[in-house]
Amino acid sequence: MKGRKLLMIPGPIEFEPDVLHAMSIPTDSHVSPDFIEIFGNSLELMRTVWKSPKGQPFIVAGTGTLSMDMAVANLIEQGDNVLVISTGYFGKRFKDILERYGANTTILEAPIGETVSLEAIEEELNSKQYKALTMTHVDTSTGILVEPKFIAALAKKYNTLSILDGVCSVAGEEIKQDEWGLDVVLTASQKAIGVPPGLALLIASEKAIEVWQNRKTLVSNYYADWNNWLPIMKAYEERRPSYFGTPPVNLIVALETSLKIISKEGMVKRINRHQSLAKAFRAGIAALHLEILPKSNKIAANTLTAIYYPKGIDGAKFSAKMIENNIIIAGGLLPEIKATYFRIGHMGSVSSNDLISVLGALERTLLELGHSMEAGKSIQAFQNELLKINEYNL
Ligand SMILES: *Cc1c(COP(=O)(O)O)cnc(C)c1O
Repeated sequence: MKGRKLLMIPGPIEFEPDVLHAMSIPTDSHVSPDFIEIFGNSLELMRTVWKSPKGQPFIVAGTGTLSMDMAVANLIEQGDNVLVISTGYFGKRFKDILERYGANTTILEAPIGETVSLEAIEEELNSKQYKALTMTHVDTSTGILVEPKFIAALAKKYNTLSILDGVCSVAGEEIKQDEWGLDVVLTASQKAIGVPPGLALLIASEKAIEVWQNRKTLVSNYYADWNNWLPIMKAYEERRPSYFGTPPVNLIVALETSLKIISKEGMVKRINRHQSLAKAFRAGIAALHLEILPKSNKIAANTLTAIYYPKGIDGAKFSAKMIENNIIIAGGLLPEIKATYFRIGHMGSVSSNDLISVLGALERTLLELGHSMEAGKSIQAFQNELLKINEYNL
C-alpha cells in the first residue's frame, strides 16, 4: 500500500492481519459455546507462552497498568514491606501503585543505562523481611533488560514473592515462570503478545494464590479483586458459562488468534527471532555511530531499542521527518533525559524487512536533517550481522 506507515513504537505494535480480522467479526454473546471455547483455549495457551503449566491465568479488560494494580491489590496489605527494583519509568510506577495500597516500599534504582546488581538486591532482602519484590523485565523507558531468573531465585531464598512486569517482554523475551519460580508474570495485549490495546493479562503462581487466600483484610479494589475473577477464569477453563463483568469479546477472539500464531511459531523460535533481529538492529545503529541507552548489549532488550539522538538533532523534527519517511517511532519517556533519545519497538510480528525499512528511513532522516554520514552503512551492518546468525532463517 502506497504511503503505508509502519508503527514501530514499543506498543501498540504492527498486528498480524489475522488478528485484526478476528477483531472485526460480529460480536458473539460472552456465554455462547463458541466464545466459551475461545476464552478457555486462550487461558490454556497463555500457560504455554508463560511456561507456567501450574499457574492461574487471568484475562481482564484493562491495560498493563491494571495488571500491575491487580497484582498489588491482591497480594499486598497495609504495612507490607515491598522491594522495588527499578530500571526506569515503569519501575517507579510500581512504587506509586504499592504506596497507594499502603505498602512500605524500598526502591533500588539503577543508574540510567544500568541494572541493579544481584549483590545489592540480596543485601536488601537480607536486611528485613520483604513480603514481595517487583521488577521490570524490559523497562520500556530505557530498553534495559533484567534477568528475572536470578532475581526470582533470590526472592525464593528469602521467602519473598516475586512479581515480574513483563508488559514489554512476554512473548518476546525468554520467560519460564514455573521453572524460575516467578509468582506473578503480568502483561498487556498491545505489546509482544500482539493484540490491540485493552487486555490485562497475568499468571499467578500457586504460592501467590495461597498468599492471596490467606489475606487478613479485604482486597480494597473491587474491580481487580481475584474473588470476583478467579471463579470466572475457572468457569471458562472448564467450559462453563459465567459472568462478573462483560469480557471484551472481540479482543479475546483476537487474543486466541494471536496465541495460536505464537504457538505455531513456537516459543524457542520466536525468542530467537527477537534476539537475532535486535542484535542485528543494534549492529546497524552502531554502524551509524549512534549510542544506545543501555551501557552494554548484554542488558539491551530484544523487544525495543532506546537510542540517543546524535548531537545537533532536534527530537521533534526527527520524529516528524521519520513519519514523512513512513516510520512512526516513539520519543523518550524517562523524565530526566526525555528530550535526548528515541525508541524503536521491534516485537511481535516484526521481520527483518521491517527493520531494514526503519534503518533506511533513519538514515534518510538524519541526512535530511544535515547529519553527516554515509548512506547505506546501517543496512549493510544489519544484513551482515543477520547473515552471521546462522540459526536465523532469512
Ligand atoms: C507499556 C508498559 C506498561 C503499562 O502498560 P499500559 O498498557 O500502558 O497500562 C507497564 N510496564 C511496562 C514495562 C510497559 O512496557
